[in-house]
Amino acid sequence: MSQKGFYGEFGGSFVPGPLQAVLDRLDDAFQTAKTDAEFMKEYRHYLREYVGRDNPLTFAQNLTAKCQGAKIYLKREDLNHTGSHKINNAIGQILLAKRMGAKRVIAETGAGQHGVATATACAMFNMECVIYMGKTDVARQALNVFRMELLGAKVVAVGKGQGRLKEAVDEALTDFVQNYQDTFYLLGSAVGPHPFPEMVKFFQSVVSEESKRQILDKEGRLPDAILACVGGGSNAIGAFAHYIEDASVRLIGVEPKEAATLTEGIPGTIHGFKCLVLLDEQGNPQPTYSIAAGLDYPGVGPEHSHLQASGRAEYVAVTRQEAFDAFLTLSKTEGITPALESAHAVAYALKLAPQLSPDKIIIVNLSGRGDKDVAQVYDMLNG
Ligand SMILES: *Cc1c(COP(=O)(O)O)cnc(C)c1O
Repeated sequence: MSQKGFYGEFGGSFVPGPLQAVLDRLDDAFQTAKTDAEFMKEYRHYLREYVGRDNPLTFAQNLTAKCQGAKIYLKREDLNHTGSHKINNAIGQILLAKRMGAKRVIAETGAGQHGVATATACAMFNMECVIYMGKTDVARQALNVFRMELLGAKVVAVGKGQGRLKEAVDEALTDFVQNYQDTFYLLGSAVGPHPFPEMVKFFQSVVSEESKRQILDKEGRLPDAILACVGGGSNAIGAFAHYIEDASVRLIGVEPKEAATLTEGIPGTIHGFKCLVLLDEQGNPQPTYSIAAGLDYPGVGPEHSHLQASGRAEYVAVTRQEAFDAFLTLSKTEGITPALESAHAVAYALKLAPQLSPDKIIIVNLSGRGDKDVAQVYDMLNG
């Protein structure tokens, strides 16, 4: 076990020796790359020219008027190429993969969003791409599988267990250990053994770096609260990162009631790191059933587990009905259809804003756009 990568009692690296050796090599490469001006210049270049950053910090004037409370701003990760924050991390990690001489990139995906972001980055950088996806998810997300194949990726359906995200991660880790010499594992959220949570945070921190500059520009002061949905926790940690030291800014993570790891979980180990985790009666990770597939993970990033324990951040849960209503409300009032994941953060904003006075400011991280969810919402309304 490595001492690095701990956030209070959470995080670390609890993996077999051969995998630890591979992770140590990855950690060395990452620590060197992030202080290398050339590497950072390249990362910024692709964020600008390929992802389309900076994206706006939009004042939600109609939603603010409707809530009759705090001013609501939306950080527009939905406007990124491929439609969510995931591409920020995919670009950062693929540049690292290239630097390490990898020829092949592998990734896990649940709903397919991270698979699509990874396949996109691989197409752009001409890398062989293999995406592991649980068999059940492959069946549910046929269009996303096709999207990844269009981008040149090979999608491997994992039949073990429940055939969901957890099994896909297990399979990707096995591949990584066997093929580490030419293969890079591009992990999609702020989870996993060290150095993944630190690395994913680093590449997602651009979200709060921008939002801080933008809010100071627009309002001349820091916001009172930042809201973000939490699955594994990558968009939230990116949205929080540059405000963690600003004690006046409330950091609020929003989970689905059906996968409320931070509000209902207990300390445990999953996929080689310690965090709050939802366990069943046998002590195994419990399958979760959120309407937002991207939030369905029974563990959560170690830093969020620690921010909760230390009291620096607050974590709340909203119901599927509240998220669903927020999806419709934001579409109608602002002409912005959020991803169902992001709709959870919007749902909590609709509760919080009316309780605050009009001189308060909140920023909601709109982690992705809802185009991918329109068919599902149609079925929910008409089914
Ligand atoms: C994957 C995804 C999430 C959840 O992942 P985090 O790592 O918790 O950010 C949230 N929103 C969107 C749009 C996603 O695609």
